[in-house]
Formats: sequence, structure tokens, C-alpha cells
Amino acid sequence: MKDANFLKENNARQLWHPMGHPREMQEQPPKIITGAEGVKITDIDGHTAVDAVGGLWCVNLGYSNQVVKDAISAQLQDLPYYSAFAGSSNPAAIEAAYAVQEFFAEDGIERVFFTSGGSDSVETCMRLARQYHRLRGEPTRTKFISLKKGYHGTHFGGASVNGNNRFRINYEPLLPGCFHLPAPYPYRNPFNETDPAKLAQLIAQAFEDEIAFQGANTIAALIMEPILGAGGVIVPDATFMPLMREICDRHGILLISDEVITGFGRTGHWSGARHWGVKPDMMSTAKGITSGYFPVGAALIGGKVAEVFESSDAEGAIYHGYTYSAHPVGAAAVTACLSETLRLDTKTNAAARGAQLFEGVQRLAKKYDIIGDVRGGHGLMTGIELVSDKAAKTPMDMDTMKRIHQTAYEAGAMVRLGAHNILMSPPLTITEPEVNVIVKALDAGFAAA
Ligand code: PMP
Repeated sequence: MKDANFLKENNARQLWHPMGHPREMQEQPPKIITGAEGVKITDIDGHTAVDAVGGLWCVNLGYSNQVVKDAISAQLQDLPYYSAFAGSSNPAAIEAAYAVQEFFAEDGIERVFFTSGGSDSVETCMRLARQYHRLRGEPTRTKFISLKKGYHGTHFGGASVNGNNRFRINYEPLLPGCFHLPAPYPYRNPFNETDPAKLAQLIAQAFEDEIAFQGANTIAALIMEPILGAGGVIVPDATFMPLMREICDRHGILLISDEVITGFGRTGHWSGARHWGVKPDMMSTAKGITSGYFPVGAALIGGKVAEVFESSDAEGAIYHGYTYSAHPVGAAAVTACLSETLRLDTKTNAAARGAQLFEGVQRLAKKYDIIGDVRGGHGLMTGIELVSDKAAKTPMDMDTMKRIHQTAYEAGAMVRLGAHNILMSPPLTITEPEVNVIVKALDAGFAAA
């Protein structure tokens, strides 16, 4: 590794950091993380902090899982790469698909299509949804409905169903035929409805209205996160996803559950849809599938969709995929990661530690007026919305957000900013004392603001 001076000087010079302004990154270079152990990261200056971000909502097993590391190393020795495009396969991919299908069998998942990440998985589900309807003789079903505040990655398909205009406006025109419903976000919504159950009903009605307006026979799928992550950890009422499922069924619309964050135990259940008692038609996954140790995603296909493809004629061929779909090293990481996830029963710890983190943050909300809304309570996804005026709900300015972030970091916890929200998704292996470190560090951050 080059010395620290070289790394600091070149941090954002050749490297354009995703989700950042290139010049701002040069002027205020991002933290350089050089090592990690358990749930703690160490930066180039030797400062250590509990990683309340879990890398990027992905390092579910923490940074030191030797079983996954060994599986990756061993696979590199055996077969570092071979394509899985029609005509060839590899043992690691076959084994990984078996493990993933078994993991999500209770969600009605029967087939697995590997990708290189979450955006790819979303794109894959969207394409398969359109092809599914064509195969069934309904080629007019091409449109997508999604939720405002939803995040579905940055490919053109995902950006088109994305519910945050920051990820859209510079890249327009996007895919035609994508329409958005209000988010199940009691703190701010166009109905001024603060009761989550009533809000769920209102959005369900808006969905019905949109279907009637567009024509059901033009809509391919609804894509939604079971708990909205990047949009600020927005937790819908327990009735919301079942309501959406029922409406989809009544109108022949597929339900794609975007489980890139919520899959693999983060919500306290193995999938977000299962958390709400819903079986989706397809699921987009990534992140926790390898705990971030290797870039892998998967589009998961339910029985109803699989049946239509497998009983079709030549039109059912899938002309979609990536060079690294079913990459053997990634696949080895998947199999090891799922077996470790089950062995450690990470969902149970996620539920317990998530409750602890949520309670800790709720205590802080009583102490600081700048906390407008606290969201979570379903596993290890916690959001804090900060305001400069509590009555007017004025979003906190970014300078103050950055000061809170930096103070919390110095006090021992790395958190993530998403606009004026603090977002937290620590490894699912986190311990009780480590959660306490996060709450204390946030306390220091809010005090500094
Ligand atoms: N969908 C959801 C719900 C996500 O949270 C993300 C990433 N945070 C994506 C899709 C895109 O995944 P990736 O960044 O791996 O492309």
C-alpha cells in the first residue's frame, strides 16, 4: 500500500466518488478506511469507530467472518472465473443458487438469477416482469408503479421507479410509463395523515385510482421496498404491504419486493416481505447476500413467474445477464455467507439490537428538539430526521448535519447522512455494548449541534 500522504493527496483526484460532487470531494476528501475488525472500522489516521452503517447497509456479518473469507480464497484457487451464459456453468454457482432458493423458499421463491449488485437485480426484475406479461399474451402491460421516497438503484430502469428526484433530474428523460404513489411516511405526506394505518388505506386508494386511470392492462408491476431504506428508513403500517399485495392480485399486476437492504435478516426476519406476511412475485437482492465481501446480487423469481417462462416457447429465452452473473468467486461467497447467516441466526440479534438502538434514539429524541422524527423498531434499520424548527418541520441544513456526523465519528460511531436524515444499519452481529457506543456518539453529535 502507498503511504498515507500519497493516499490523502490522490483520494479524490483520479477517483470520482459515487454520490458526491467531484470538486467537493477534492476539497473535503472522504474518510479513508484502511482496516476493519468485527463491527469496527479504522481510518488512515488510526481512529477507530463502530460502523453504524455496515459498510453501506451490507456488511451483515461484520468484517471478520473467516468462513466467508476462506471460501472466497479457496474458490479463487479452484476456478477464479467462468461464464454462466447459456452453454456453460460452474459448480459454485449451482450450489449458491440452491442455497439462495432454499433460504427464500418460504417467500415462494423458486428460481435465482444472479447479478453483480442491487441495481442489476432491480433491472432484471423489471425486464422479466415485462417479458412475463408478453409470454402470457398481455404485451400492453409495460408500466411500473412505485413509491415516492423509494430507492431502487441507479440504472435507467431503477432510476425511473426511484422516488427521490436527486437521482432522477440530471439523467432525464427516464423510462416512460413509470408512476409514483405517495410514501407511507406519516411525518410528511400529502394527506397530512399521521395515523400509519389510515395512511396505508389512503395510499392503497391512490394505487387503485392510478390503476383505474392508467388501465390495469397497461401495468406490469409494482416495485416497492418493504421498509424504505435510503429514503430515510420509512416504516409502513403492518397493513400496508398486504394491502398492496391484494390490489396487485386483483389487477394482474406483479409485486416486486426490493429486498436489497431488507433481505437476509436486517428487519428481524429473513426477508422484508416475510416481515409483513407477504409473498412477492419477485425479489431484488444484493448486499447481505455476500455481506459485501464480493459484489453479488440476485433477482429471485417466484413460482407463478417461473412457471410462465418455463412452459413458454422460444420467446421465453432470457436475453439479459451480466458477464459476472453467477461469478464462481461471488457464488462461493454467497453459499458461505448464507450458511453463516443461518448458523449465527443473525435475524434474531438484528431484532434485539435493533430494538435497543431504536429505544436509545427515542431517548435522545426527548432530549433534543432538533430531532423531528425517529423511525425504526423493525430490526437494524434506524432513521433520525433532523429539523431546525420542530413546529415547522424545517429540514436541518447540511452544514449542521455534517458537524453532527463528524462529532459522532470522533466520539466513536460512523453513521450515514441521507439528506437531513441520519441512517443506521450496523452489522447484524453487533453486541449490546457496541449499540451503546452508537447512542453515546449520537448524543455527542446532537450536543455539538
Ligand atoms: N435497491 C435498494 C432498495 C437499495 O437500497 C439499493 C442500494 N442501496 C439498490 C437497489 C441498488 O443497489 P446497488 O447500489 O448495489 O446497485
